[in-house]
Amino acid sequence: MVMDFEFRKQVMDYHQGSDVIKYCYQCSRCTDNCPVSFVTDELYQYGYNPRRNILNALLGYKDNIFSADLIAIWGCTVCDTCDEVCPQNIELTEIFTLLKNQSIEKGEGPDFIFQQAQAIYESGKAIPSQAALERRRESMGLPAIIAPNVDEFQMLMNNMEINKKLKKGD
Ligand code: SF4
Ligand code: SF4
Repeated sequence: MVMDFEFRKQVMDYHQGSDVIKYCYQCSRCTDNCPVSFVTDELYQYGYNPRRNILNALLGYKDNIFSADLIAIWGCTVCDTCDEVCPQNIELTEIFTLLKNQSIEKGEGPDFIFQQAQAIYESGKAIPSQAALERRRESMGLPAIIAPNVDEFQMLMNNMEINKKLKKGD
């Protein structure tokens, strides 16, 4: 196991309000309350485990996180339960956002993330409009959905250089 000090510093810098006395003491309250951990316990070799992620992140064991199954990073649905129950006020989801961003930078994110980003780039929506949905809304007397300004979305995403990261592995 190699400790990556640069990665460790990135984690500490990313975690707003972090200081030494807030270190995780591995009580596992986050994992015990995580709904994803609950439902994946028997599906994957190790299940999804936020406590383990935090341990590896705070110790700089980058390889343990990035060489594991993608669920180690992408299993988190950002429900924020762990943030609320952590007795040390560690904002776990902040750290998990860093991990997800680094996963994308490495071109290793799951396909559905790239597909959804591509859909937003092309249509301004994560789930593009469908004629059947529009008809159903109309039949229920709901107002028509105003089409988003796709040019604006594309300009924003281009400015953030997200367009360069839309394809996995690019
Ligand atoms: S709840 Fe907080 S202190 Fe406890 S293991 Fe999780 S991150 Fe660490
Ligand atoms: S925010 Fe993520 S890690 Fe935390 S409890 Fe929800 S799914 Fe689990």
